[in-house]
Amino acid sequence: MPKLTDISYVKNLMEQHGISFLKKYGQNFLINESVPVRTAEMCCDNTESGVIEIGPGIGTLTEQLAKRFSKVVTVEIDERLLPVLDITLKDHSNVTVINGDIMKLDINELIETHFSGMNVCVCANLPYYITSPVIMKLLESNTRLDSITLLIQKEVADRLCAKAGSAEYGAITASVNYYSKPKKLFSVSAGSFIPAPKVESTVIRLDLYKDKPVKPKNEQLMFKVIKAAFAQRRKTLSNAVSNAIPSVSKQQVADILSSCGFDEGIRGERLTVSDFAKISDALCEYINS
Ligand code: SAM
Repeated sequence: MPKLTDISYVKNLMEQHGISFLKKYGQNFLINESVPVRTAEMCCDNTESGVIEIGPGIGTLTEQLAKRFSKVVTVEIDERLLPVLDITLKDHSNVTVINGDIMKLDINELIETHFSGMNVCVCANLPYYITSPVIMKLLESNTRLDSITLLIQKEVADRLCAKAGSAEYGAITASVNYYSKPKKLFSVSAGSFIPAPKVESTVIRLDLYKDKPVKPKNEQLMFKVIKAAFAQRRKTLSNAVSNAIPSVSKQQVADILSSCGFDEGIRGERLTVSDFAKISDALCEYINS
């Protein structure tokens, strides 16, 4: 069978099945073989692991995952691609294709049904339109995933891997850092896809903590503080938090910040997730006192 990254093969295959690339599903398929090969090589340390893929397209990354890992379950929303995947993945009996929307699937159920007793990772060339919701869904599902490796827009990768205090640092950075240790793996040029997107891309890997280093007393309250801090970026933290939690005045938040050793006028973008936990713990104590 020709390579799935061969541009004329991809075009022919799509034509034969009467399929056009759908922008609404973020369909930019890989045509640079080194990208799926390197992504699959770097996504998981244990070849006995199972892999969940999101959006196989015509199976380019799926094939590389199937060659390296025990089992692959791949979720594709576009049913037009199913007959194509029957052809391109016919030699890989360790692959199961599920027709569905990743945002509507119960990830824990999927893991227990297909990967009972196995280590599991996620690996995907993600459709750009759902990057952040997918990441947050995977992290917040409290799954027993080991890692999540994603090919995403460069700017989003920069944001997820940003250090506190930098312009790219945001609520999602702090949240991702709470659940995992993010790392950039390599850059991918726009010419590696058909059709070529307008943006550059980066492959990142999030290694999920089994035992989170930051342990807030009230997780929900910590996320409320993080959300407030970045929803009103130009405001000081005391202003933003007292707006989001009306039972605490601006001055009370300022006092709590100083008691934690922070400047009263500090802004959220300077704080690490561990700083947010410290502040929300002090707030929690104050609210309950
Ligand atoms: N993995 C292929 C590759 O690397 O060439 C295709 C990647 S393409 C960027 C994204 C894929 O995700 C498409 O096949 C698209 O149909 C699928 N997709 C989009 N939204 C989805 C969703 N909500 N759930 C599952 N798959 C989705």
